[in-house]
Amino acid sequence: AKKYILHQHFSGLPKQSDLKLVEEKLPNLRNGEFLSEAVYLSVDPYMRAYEPRLKLGTVFIGSQIAKITDSKSKQYPIGKYVVGQFGWRSHTITSEEEAKNPELLVNVLPDFGKLSLSLGLGVLGMPGNAAYFGFLEICKPKEGETVVVSGAAGAVGSVVGQIAKIKGCNVIGIAGDDEKGKWLINELGFDHFINYKKPNLHKTLAKCAPNGVDCYFDNVGGEISSTVLSQMNLHGRVSVCGAIVGYNANRSTLPTATITQGFIAIKQLRIEGFIATRWRDRWMEGIDQNLKWISEGKLKYRETVTEGFENTFQAFVDMLQGGNVGKAVVKV
Ligand code: NDP
Repeated sequence: AKKYILHQHFSGLPKQSDLKLVEEKLPNLRNGEFLSEAVYLSVDPYMRAYEPRLKLGTVFIGSQIAKITDSKSKQYPIGKYVVGQFGWRSHTITSEEEAKNPELLVNVLPDFGKLSLSLGLGVLGMPGNAAYFGFLEICKPKEGETVVVSGAAGAVGSVVGQIAKIKGCNVIGIAGDDEKGKWLINELGFDHFINYKKPNLHKTLAKCAPNGVDCYFDNVGGEISSTVLSQMNLHGRVSVCGAIVGYNANRSTLPTATITQGFIAIKQLRIEGFIATRWRDRWMEGIDQNLKWISEGKLKYRETVTEGFENTFQAFVDMLQGGNVGKAVVKV
């Protein structure tokens, strides 16, 4: 078995040498335990944000889809697939007791029919549910409203924009690449695309949203978000999902935030952050609904798949730099 351990804390963009790929010999299974073999690993921005809290020498965090290959547990029989927060490792032994730990989030994978199991890490997993609950419950979009999504071509953002279209909204996606923009407009049905790497974000947004912005789903933070907040309508709603602009930055060198409180007060905005597991009790509702929308052709998805366990680190830093369209996963 192989695993990646944290060797050195990240500084700026993570370096390959910050993690170490090590071999481990696994013990025999005890009663109530099962062995699972990784099939797909997830690489996500939150791993970069969470890393400072990890102790050196621990397995690097992350969710994976794994196949149970040996078992002394009736609940987790051989042949079943599970999704769990096992970290970047090829093989994992878990006890039934450990599997109940809410932090490990171990679940037998629901039946996706003919769809790829990897979707359990994306549109039919945590990012899909972050989009479903985080957008609908916090932004509470109404038909005809204008919705802006940043990080629009990623795992969460691409789903948010399509749900906003399903709800009858005018949808503006912001991302950092024109090819991504073509996908958003031509295939996912977004109404407008803005490349934040080009100048005049403020003016371009005002053109795309002449009546102002009612809902903002924020994946990125920073200047992009300050600009969107400055164009919100009265009683606008903002769902704060993440702030990737700052994840690789040295905090002491980050520019001070543009002052946005004026707009927040005058427009009486409601801004709320969330963590998707807040809706743990309704988890299957989100997955079932997203699956239904996929089967009806209303929700499309893309994955950027990197092959090989030994390429996990590269997949991770590529994703952090915008190399992915849709969900970034590793096929082990
Ligand atoms: P994505 O698939 O969106 O991948 C990350 C993307 O971020 C890249 O593709 C890149 O796209 C964009 N990006 C990178 N650097 C910057 C930057 N400086 N400014 C603007 N965009 C940048 O990841 P996810 O969909 O998994 O996650 C999106 C956000 O949601 C993250 O902030 C993440 O932490 C958060 N999240 C929060 C959850 C929650 O429960 N609250 C759950 C899941 C995710 P581009 O080419 O457009 O630059």
